[in-house]
Amino acid sequence: MNPRQTPAAGRRSPLRSVKYWLALLGIAALICAAVVYFGRQQTLSPLQQAAQQTQSATPAPTPAPTPTPRTIADFNMVDLNHGWVRYSDGSVRVTEDGGAHWTDAAAVPPDSSPAPVDGLLWLRKTVNHPAAVNYQSHTYPVKKSQFLTDLIGWAQVADDGELGAVLLVTADGGATWSAEVTPDMQAVMDKEREKLKAFEQEMALYADRGQALRVMQSDWALLPDKAAPGDVVLVRAKEPGSVKWEGKTYKLEPFGAGYFTYLPIGMDVKPGKYPVGGAELTIQPKKFETQYLTVTEEMESMRQETDRIAADQKKIDKARSVSAPQFLFTSDFIQPIEGRLTTPYGYTRYVNGKLDSSHRAIDLAAPEGTPVKAANDGIVALADNLYLTGNSVYIDHGMHLFSQYIHMSKLLVKTGDKVKKGDVIGLVGTTGFSTGPHLHFTFWAHNVPVNPNLFFKTTPFHWQ
Ligand SMILES: [Zn+2]
Repeated sequence: MNPRQTPAAGRRSPLRSVKYWLALLGIAALICAAVVYFGRQQTLSPLQQAAQQTQSATPAPTPAPTPTPRTIADFNMVDLNHGWVRYSDGSVRVTEDGGAHWTDAAAVPPDSSPAPVDGLLWLRKTVNHPAAVNYQSHTYPVKKSQFLTDLIGWAQVADDGELGAVLLVTADGGATWSAEVTPDMQAVMDKEREKLKAFEQEMALYADRGQALRVMQSDWALLPDKAAPGDVVLVRAKEPGSVKWEGKTYKLEPFGAGYFTYLPIGMDVKPGKYPVGGAELTIQPKKFETQYLTVTEEMESMRQETDRIAADQKKIDKARSVSAPQFLFTSDFIQPIEGRLTTPYGYTRYVNGKLDSSHRAIDLAAPEGTPVKAANDGIVALADNLYLTGNSVYIDHGMHLFSQYIHMSKLLVKTGDKVKKGDVIGLVGTTGFSTGPHLHFTFWAHNVPVNPNLFFKTTPFHWQ
């Protein structure tokens, strides 16, 4: 046995063993670290990933040795598209698509979006600010929440971990919360955006935002809720359906954010209170004067031509049976001519001593050839020379409201023409059953002549 060898070998052997074990330990540690790292990567929740993303999007200038997760300092969703988040480190992110995507911004943008505010107010009937929200079976106290509509809301929770940097979103009024805007939530938001558009289309027609909100937030509205025999009322409901009135059923047609119909009030409706849908209509008493008219025998004989009259009536009925399924006007109606009022609306007429129908129009006397203007935007439903009414024009203003101009000397439009308010459609004359140059003018709602005076310098949306 070599004694030198034995201690040397003895020295080498423990040395080699130490290195060996150290190396082995090192490899094991690496494997452990890898397992932990990749294991962690695989189990990262979308929320943790989102938090990582938000952190990596704005890297700190020098990597901090022990990074504290940044949290949301404040946020504001301006509308269904625009919003911002400011983080504890001062960085800002903005969205323009309702939170589906976020991008870095230099600063918090100014919250200047007055237009949709009324619509959002209308879509948010209940104000719900939860004290806590449930997310992935944990309850988190809410630091700040914001509901844009009854369904769409945002919440910032108090959490020292990743959740503190994530804006939670709900699209079901706060029943469930998500760290990201899912496709299902997108679909809900799209529907809310459509409602908002409809709201804005309708809102533009009212007198002011106060009236608009009052009407649009009611289940039923009557414009106006007081009327007289011969008048017309515009009915608005929140839901589709119909209303019954004087033995007839009027279907509510969709427009904007509601459902509408005109309701003609008969000449012999008794004063009182009547239910109309879910609202109450008050009919006020009104007395109509009597007018005695003398016409020549020749003129009177005109009215015996029942075949021609019936043929004309068919044309008129056909023209008035179709109406645009929307309101074609956006502003006040105008009186088609200045002129001397010779017969007011609703006069009970006696022609040559015999009781005639009541005069459900106004007669405005004016020199022959005076230009006659369209009372508002619309489509010419009929422009024709008719036997009793002479040169006649009916303009469709949508939703079964027509204006009528007759006895004109000349027609300047034809059936199907689109007209704008104030367009000259004809000239004053005395064609047909007429005793002198004048314009016989009225409105028809659902084939019932109604008081034209209600429309001048206003629109049915301003009736209140
Ligand atoms: Zn007349």
